[in-house]
Amino acid sequence: MHTLRKRLLALDGRGYKAYKAIAGRYAFPGFTLSIDHVQGDPFATPSRISVRLPMGQAALPAELWRSPVRRLALEDFLARCLRRAIRRHVKGQRGSGNSGEMRVAGGGQQVLQRNAVLISEDHVEARLTLGLPARGRRAAGREAIAMFFDELPAVVQDGLCFAQLDANAAARHVHSVEDQQYLRDWLRGEDLVAFVADGAVLPRASGVDDRPLAEGALPWHAPDSLARRVDLPNAGEVRGLGIPAGVSLIVGGGFHGKSTLLQTLERGVYDHIPGDGRERVASLADAVKIRAEDGRAIHAVDISPFINHLPFGRDTTRFSSENASGSTSQAANIVEALACGSRLLLIDEDTSATNFMIRDARMQALVADDKEPITPLVQRVRDLYTQLGVSSIIVMGGSGDYLDVADTVIMMDNYAPRDVTDKARALARPLPPRPAAAPFDTHPRRCPGPRVLDASRGRRAVKIDVRETHLLDYGEHRIDLGAVEQLVDRDQTRTIGLMIHYFAEHGAEDCETLAEGLRQVMHAVERHGLDCLSPFKVGNLALPRLFELAAAINRIREGEWR
Ligand code: ADP
Ligand code: MG
Repeated sequence: MHTLRKRLLALDGRGYKAYKAIAGRYAFPGFTLSIDHVQGDPFATPSRISVRLPMGQAALPAELWRSPVRRLALEDFLARCLRRAIRRHVKGQRGSGNSGEMRVAGGGQQVLQRNAVLISEDHVEARLTLGLPARGRRAAGREAIAMFFDELPAVVQDGLCFAQLDANAAARHVHSVEDQQYLRDWLRGEDLVAFVADGAVLPRASGVDDRPLAEGALPWHAPDSLARRVDLPNAGEVRGLGIPAGVSLIVGGGFHGKSTLLQTLERGVYDHIPGDGRERVASLADAVKIRAEDGRAIHAVDISPFINHLPFGRDTTRFSSENASGSTSQAANIVEALACGSRLLLIDEDTSATNFMIRDARMQALVADDKEPITPLVQRVRDLYTQLGVSSIIVMGGSGDYLDVADTVIMMDNYAPRDVTDKARALARPLPPRPAAAPFDTHPRRCPGPRVLDASRGRRAVKIDVRETHLLDYGEHRIDLGAVEQLVDRDQTRTIGLMIHYFAEHGAEDCETLAEGLRQVMHAVERHGLDCLSPFKVGNLALPRLFELAAAINRIREGEWR
């Protein structure tokens, strides 16, 4: 500690590079500070530090972290406390560039597995970034002293020592996350694919603000015929709408809340913080949003269950395209999700290709079946369920054709759900006989070649940058994830980049299917933690799902697949 103070005094006013000398470990009262990486100049990515408190000092009650889910939830809670403490104690701007800023990763409405705060048996560790202060390009050592010796200890005290925290809020956070995971697991045994509890708040503040709509939101209330009760471990009995396995439709007039419900179900694969409004909403963990994505690249995907005999006899069992159409992209998105083991597809008419969704009787009479390459989803959605056990929830306000194939029909009426299954059944027509369509292949033998997974750029062997959540620069590849809607956090995108690289180095060469290879990567991270992905100590990783990881690789434009 005194060594650090001396070093900072000595470098005050010298060139910024002099800061390099402070890397290392220092004992502070109650914690150890480790300066893990020192930035090269005041405008570079801020320096990385970590603090480690003995468990005796942090005094986190064991019952709040004794199981894996509780530990994850409490880690998330502590990161949020740190954030708040930083806002309270850190002055911020202290000179040029990022001088004076202090940050911890996290925030957002979801509770994700991260490496910003890690709890272990005998200590708790937090990783922060810190902009080392500069005047112009000179080191401002005295300002740095204020950051390390005044601000940091106050942040650690108020952000990580349980005695300073709101114990009730901590318990609420942990219990809520535990309930959500229980709820998601419970679905399977009940043959449900999703659940939305009474009182849930579905609409968001805005299209770019994931917080709940502050005013005028109509709370959710399930109709009796679809209501289910679940006994949550902490909250006790909760009533809500259970969506059964099978084919479910969400119908209703425009602007009545159909898409809002579907978006809520998309996010139901994640746990949400208390107060979010969606903390008692769950969908199957492997639910995947499916949409049209014209322009995306497709590599060696068997889209023949949906698209066949293209003009000029083009093969669709190993279909590739640099610039897919709406329908081929939507077909590929389904087939790729099935390959990763999805059991629930979520589809909104707003983001679908019409010719992929339906083809009505009159159009069939005009254009003979053998002249139309597309077998629309309406003709395959039952097969998905009966042959593969894959359910679908489809928003469809514009066509009655899906009434013929639906098991459950929910009508959104002024933001309130109504069960109109019986009414819909009375309108349904028997399905006309059809020639057998091509079978689904859920274990397609396709794997990316070395060039696809090459992380190098210029002279750098590994170059991975994340500008925004939906844009990943991986080596020379720019991966557009704009249509991968269940990717929710930039730190997940960063982690996807590192996981692709990990895959390239461990097992990509001899895997037989992409999903099998990526499952190994997911298992490695589960076993060894996110830290196994990075040679440096960082705190800005968050676990993605297998589906979003695969989605990123599937969208790389360049390179051969085998
Ligand atoms: P649809 O898909 O049926 O056309 P949307 O789901 O897009 O309708 O919803 C239309 C608008 O209503 C959105 O601005 C949404 O935020 C708002 N909304 C949805 N559900 C509710 C609710 N429960 N309470 C208040 N506003 C809601
Ligand atoms: Mg809509």
